[in-house]
Amino acid sequence: MADKEKQDFHLSGIISLSTVQRRRPKTAQNKNIALMQYFYTPVKGYRRFDKIVHRYPEPRHSFFYPATVVLASLKRRDGKENVFFFLKITKTWISVDGLLVYFPYDYIYPEQYAYMLELKRGLDAKGHCLLEMPSGTGKTVSLLSLIVAYMLTHPLVVTKLIYCSRTVPEIEKVIEELKQLLKYYERERGEKPNIIGLVLSSRKNLCIHPQVSKEREGKVVDGRCHSLTASYVREKHRVNEDVPVCSFYEGFDHDGREAPLGPGVYNLDDLKQFGHEMTWCPYFLARYTITNAHIVVYSYHYLLDPKIAEVVSKELTKTSVVVFDEAHNIDNVCIDSMSVKINRRTIEKSTANLQVLEKTVNDMKDDDAKKLTEEYQRLVDGLKDASVARETDVVLSNPVLPDEVLQEAVPGNIRTAEHFVGFLKRFVEYLKTRLRVQHVVQETPAGFLKDVAQKVCIERKPLRFCAERLASLLRTLEIADQTDFSPLVLITHLATLVSTYTKGFTIIVEPFDDKTPTVSNPLLHFSCLDSSLAIKPVFDRFQTVVITSGTLSPLDMYPKILDFHPVIMSSFTMTLARPCLLPMIVSKGNDQVAISSRFETREDVAVVRNYGQLLVEVAQAVPDGVVCFFTSYMYLESVVASWYDQGVVDSLQRSKLLFIETQDAAETSLALLNYIKHGLPIPPPPFCHARLAAHGVFAPRSSGCLARSTRTWFLDSRRYGSVVYERWLSVPGVGRAGRGLAACESGRGAVLLSVARGKVSEGVDFDHHLGRAVLMFGIPYVYTQSRILRARLDYLRDQFQIRENDFLTFDAMRHAAQCIGRVLRGKTDYGIMIFADKRFSRSDKRSKLPKWIQEHLKDSYCNLSTEEAVQILKRWLRQMAQPFSREDQLGISLLTIDQLQTEEMQKKLRKAAEQV
Ligand code: SF4
Repeated sequence: MADKEKQDFHLSGIISLSTVQRRRPKTAQNKNIALMQYFYTPVKGYRRFDKIVHRYPEPRHSFFYPATVVLASLKRRDGKENVFFFLKITKTWISVDGLLVYFPYDYIYPEQYAYMLELKRGLDAKGHCLLEMPSGTGKTVSLLSLIVAYMLTHPLVVTKLIYCSRTVPEIEKVIEELKQLLKYYERERGEKPNIIGLVLSSRKNLCIHPQVSKEREGKVVDGRCHSLTASYVREKHRVNEDVPVCSFYEGFDHDGREAPLGPGVYNLDDLKQFGHEMTWCPYFLARYTITNAHIVVYSYHYLLDPKIAEVVSKELTKTSVVVFDEAHNIDNVCIDSMSVKINRRTIEKSTANLQVLEKTVNDMKDDDAKKLTEEYQRLVDGLKDASVARETDVVLSNPVLPDEVLQEAVPGNIRTAEHFVGFLKRFVEYLKTRLRVQHVVQETPAGFLKDVAQKVCIERKPLRFCAERLASLLRTLEIADQTDFSPLVLITHLATLVSTYTKGFTIIVEPFDDKTPTVSNPLLHFSCLDSSLAIKPVFDRFQTVVITSGTLSPLDMYPKILDFHPVIMSSFTMTLARPCLLPMIVSKGNDQVAISSRFETREDVAVVRNYGQLLVEVAQAVPDGVVCFFTSYMYLESVVASWYDQGVVDSLQRSKLLFIETQDAAETSLALLNYIKHGLPIPPPPFCHARLAAHGVFAPRSSGCLARSTRTWFLDSRRYGSVVYERWLSVPGVGRAGRGLAACESGRGAVLLSVARGKVSEGVDFDHHLGRAVLMFGIPYVYTQSRILRARLDYLRDQFQIRENDFLTFDAMRHAAQCIGRVLRGKTDYGIMIFADKRFSRSDKRSKLPKWIQEHLKDSYCNLSTEEAVQILKRWLRQMAQPFSREDQLGISLLTIDQLQTEEMQKKLRKAAEQV
């Protein structure tokens, strides 16, 4: 051993394995800790060793708490190797039922630990889980930490995590959490974990082609990409260089497959940057890499929409764990992915598509008949062979045909291109006649097929092959940009679906849209009634599927409507150090008239006035933003019209700015933006009281809602003169935040009127000052006269024995909880939840609210008048105004790892977990 090494060796005081074992105390944990500290102190420099032989993050080695056991080797001069055993303290290692989990934060919420416990049990049992945990309590990081730890500890049991979320921002958030987690692993273990995590999104979000990426519509990007990358386009390019192709795809095709992405986490920007550096297409790179990746984050549709799932997610193995986050609406996503809607425009456009097809077939017959003959031959061998194509040729696949069907020869009457075009023409003509209706017609797929056979002599079998047959023809005809053919593709999807499924679907032809009953606009709905059809392949294929969200209550409905058997079904509450949410049910106005959005009373002047008065009083008492949800746009419009007449709007505007959500997406975005701008005077925390006080700015605390909220400083600036306001602006560092406030008309705060099931109710968080109170005006029952809904209700009753009323209440309550839940997005936040309808106080409604809301909904808050509610909320705001810091939460709603590991806390958490 070299002198230097000897010195290091002696200085570091590392003791060989045998010594350690000799010295290892027998049992007591405190002795272990003492021993660990003894070892740890001298071995900080362990990275000097040339090789780390192994680490033991396994439970059997966890007698040392909380530490990583490391074996390191030191080569001696004589060539022999000394293996050493030492410990490295890791503060944020936690043992979840024996599994050692790296948790990347210094603190943990008790419910996070309980959530991980349940999840671990689900993974152990290799079954499906249904878990409800309030938003803002760190669900994503808990999921990621536990599953990554499980994957690393049991690499053969769980090989992949597929994390599905709804929107691109949500997906990006998950990837950011994952980055943090793996960085933490690297820091703690001294090496990068051998994990690849990446996001997969549509071409629209990943394309880096200078022209194509400028397109704003997803479909157009897909079409243009296809026209540059289809195999026949590339063939042509080989012969004639003037035919354009995508250099990024060519780059990827040339080198990308041999050198896939290295370990690390890649978000959209990382992929794009990498794509630019290597001249590889990030979209195809990501699609290719998901087979090797350990963690894939993408949208629901990549698994649930069979048309996309078949293209993208075909190769995923059974040992993957699938997580559906924010899954409270998963049944509707399933239904939408299997339903088709046809109107007159679709028919007209598909007729035009057919004319183009016919012409192209004729041209090809004259110029290159060989290609058509070859295709015919392939179709004789079966669709499977006909559809063997490169990845770039498939834009959407038709998933509904089982493998054995694809092996069969394609029916003779649609094998030749001309016959197939003629066949489609007949079918489109038939659909055209079906749209000529005066009354609503409803029929089963079997009835529809019988009618097709009688009227236009089309049998079921060739209809089944339509979607694949068209895809094959489009390839043969070498139609580069297939975007224009989407109406015809939709018709063939209808043909294939209607002839494949006889159960769980209905066909409804309506002469007009429900929203415009006077305008003739016939519609043919092919509607899926059974949400379990789309998700069944996912449950069957993967060993563990986790369905999770902040609002899944009542939990027992999901196993029924999705037809699966979860091994774990739990709803977690939110441990709070102070009662930071205040749910209340307001059932009457000050005049004692009951308030409700029931159909019979919703137009009642007294009810509308009482709703108005409730909002005015809440807006006056509550600082910052107030968000209201109505049951529908129609109801919102009629109520606001009455409020204008009754002077409610004027009173409201005296205390707050008013914004309204409309059905126009652009208008709503603008309203939302302005609401946020006007409702968001958040001071950065360092500028709060102490700092302001240091500059001679004092917030009066007497009104009870001032201490924590800078918004109220400005409310008060009007009351107490402009001194506070001016001084605030002069505080160094207030900068933009302060000047932004100046634009906010003395900071009155804002009221946003929106609609349950609308854009605002899903995916927009009103945390902190953006939403201090949220009001739900009425119970958001879905429109029950809709024929599609009626058909679904009948189906649920017949197939799953779910009573109509139970389903409607479940659906209404999950939407109410979703709206109301917008207001509280974490434990440092606080918010008021007002359920303004007397029906909410009935136990059948109340019991369907998420457990974390129910727990705070005391009986005394359940049947209030407007005045009582305002008194309560004023008192509560005063309580919330008291200073509150992290220290106040410690040990109750926030635990250090040490606190978590105490025997007492472990017992408590285990007990809580058993109860859920
Ligand atoms: S191959 Fe990739 S970079 Fe090229 S057009 Fe398609 S998506 Fe864009």
